[in-house]
Amino acid sequence: MEHTRYRGRFAPSPTGPLHFGSLVTAVATWLEARAANGDWLVRIEDLDPLREPPEATDQILHSLDVHGLHSDEPIRFQSRRHPAYQDAIDHLLGNGKAYRCSCSRKQLQAHGGRHPHQCRTLKAVSGGSPHAIRFALIDERCQWMDLLLGPQQQTVQAELDDPVLQRKEGFYAYQLAVAVDDIDQGITHVVRGSDLLDMTAQQQQIFQALGAAAPQWLHIPVILNDQNQKLSKQNHAPALDDSKPAANLVHALAALGQHPPELLFSATVDEVLAWARAHWQRTAIPLTSQQARGITPSTQ
Ligand code: GLU
Repeated sequence: MEHTRYRGRFAPSPTGPLHFGSLVTAVATWLEARAANGDWLVRIEDLDPLREPPEATDQILHSLDVHGLHSDEPIRFQSRRHPAYQDAIDHLLGNGKAYRCSCSRKQLQAHGGRHPHQCRTLKAVSGGSPHAIRFALIDERCQWMDLLLGPQQQTVQAELDDPVLQRKEGFYAYQLAVAVDDIDQGITHVVRGSDLLDMTAQQQQIFQALGAAAPQWLHIPVILNDQNQKLSKQNHAPALDDSKPAANLVHALAALGQHPPELLFSATVDEVLAWARAHWQRTAIPLTSQQARGITPSTQ
């Protein structure tokens, strides 16, 4: 289906509750969609039960709710989309854009990233041996335009960078599911943290192999902790305090370079979001994490 209307999404992996960095991304995706009078969707990327505490999805959805960020359509859960991912894998295997790979990480490392079993050229690995499915990248110097960062150039190295689409254990991988769902949901614009910037060229090839145009991309700086590490579950980022949603939103807007006035600290969530919609300026978003750090709400 063709979509000309703006459709954006916030697509957290439920590896833990939302932290401040994920709120900044959620707010940026929401404001970009609102500025374009488009749709804003929430998609839970729950592909890997081993990394996902069972309570995390509910915590995330509750946090979004108290921060006034409501999906325009029913929330999509990737855990319920396995048949669509399998169809995509069958399609990619069928047209030679994906291959079965039984190499261990160790073997790949020992061969400088090349496949000792020539997985890429063999049509199938022997039936019984456990294998992953990888996407066969094409060597390419990819150029594209980021809506915040401007012209981007990335070199894609076939075989060395080939992403896993389905892991040996059977789990469908992020690189596959994100493209299948962005296509299926008619996503026109992806706003996300710049930690995923390096994935973009590969993902463009996956979109193409699935017969779809890639969305437009906008990468915002990731939020750092005091040790200059990305705020993340692994780095023990604290969960958002859902009892202070308006203040959290004001801080998120400040990190996005929007200069919210301090008086918004005593406003309601709806008032903060209304101010943000009225004043949203994409061009004010800082380009780097260092610039995003330490911006405080404005006193005037
Ligand atoms: N699920 C991914 C994450 O939480 C984001 C996917 C994307 O925006 O492309 O990091």
